[in-house]
Amino acid sequence: MAQIELKQVAKKFGDVYAVQPMDLTIQDGEFVALLGPSGCGKTTTLRMISGLEAVSSGQILIDGQDVTWNHPSARDIAFVFQFFALYPHMTVRQNIAFTLEAQKVPKAQVEKRVFDVARLLQIEHLLRLRPKALSGGDRQRVTLARALVRHPKAFLMDEPLGALDADFRATMRAEIKRLHLAQHATTVYVTHDQIEAMAMSDRIVIMSNARVQQIGTPAQVYYDPANLFVARFIGSPGMNLVKGRYTNGMVQLPGANQLPLPERWQAAIANQLSSEDVVLGFRPEAAKISADGVLNTQVYASALHGAYAMLHLALDGEKGETMTHVRAAKNTIYPIGTPLRFDLDPQMVRFFDPKTELALTLA
Ligand code: ATP
Repeated sequence: MAQIELKQVAKKFGDVYAVQPMDLTIQDGEFVALLGPSGCGKTTTLRMISGLEAVSSGQILIDGQDVTWNHPSARDIAFVFQFFALYPHMTVRQNIAFTLEAQKVPKAQVEKRVFDVARLLQIEHLLRLRPKALSGGDRQRVTLARALVRHPKAFLMDEPLGALDADFRATMRAEIKRLHLAQHATTVYVTHDQIEAMAMSDRIVIMSNARVQQIGTPAQVYYDPANLFVARFIGSPGMNLVKGRYTNGMVQLPGANQLPLPERWQAAIANQLSSEDVVLGFRPEAAKISADGVLNTQVYASALHGAYAMLHLALDGEKGETMTHVRAAKNTIYPIGTPLRFDLDPQMVRFFDPKTELALTLA
């Protein structure tokens, strides 16, 4: 398996950047997702790694070797596409064996490798069938088998589950993760589905507008978003982001609310804010409803999400312009208009500079 390194890799179509210069090192055996909204440059990045798209500038290294100008076939990496690109006139066995046979791998070895990969993906019983006899999920397993059987240095996957329905997606997500854990194959996985990225990846590269916004573990991008884009984009709903002003150790929030600044943030705020304006960020589970809570709100709406309730609480009461999402126990559904107080877990509070949109960091 392989380490993949991108050094200031960029792609321009005409005068427009599809990918701004980016640095990324994917470790041997690592599973990295490229995540972001449509058009942010994920697929272009993947295609540059594969060699299907030439870089406009920068270098790509595989295991320390510069492959920037190598042909895709000379990079020894397998591309798994979204569509079920199987040969309809061949059986499943022939589809899986095809590349090995083209490479003149000895027959006995082809048989063994096809059988091993079929067993891994639990498709042995399908080997004699043609693709049209298979379900969508089984076809996707065959697509994966065909990539796996080559023992490539790395896998590149572009929304491989995009065409599947929700149930199959969940099954195949688990399948790909299981395969990754079994084989430790370096994998770069493009998706616009954050649940997929969070569930499968060691690290996530979050992109927007052709730029890398943050590279981090699922926990880092969730709890410590680097900027307002990541804070909004990750999580469902995204992080609560409330505009305020910082004065005298207090953050003044809508509805005459005041949040005493947690001690560990005092120096950071004083040193890093470019003005008094600040954005307070917290996840719905950072709030604890309590009769003497420091923040005073009014229930705007509440909904049962099964295992818990999601409350929409307005910090500015009747006006209802500054809404926060707060997670509460499932039996806490309140009538609209109920006054409610909550406290914030000081460990889970974050701050952003509204001018730079960047998260403030603790020393
Ligand atoms: P999606 O999830 O919709 O596939 P993406 O994040 O993968 O989006 P890309 O397909 O990498 O985004 O596209 C990035 C930008 O580059 C888009 O604005 C797209 O229109 C543009 N682009 C991609 N390929 C070409 C091309 N061959 N010629 C011109 N522009 C292109």
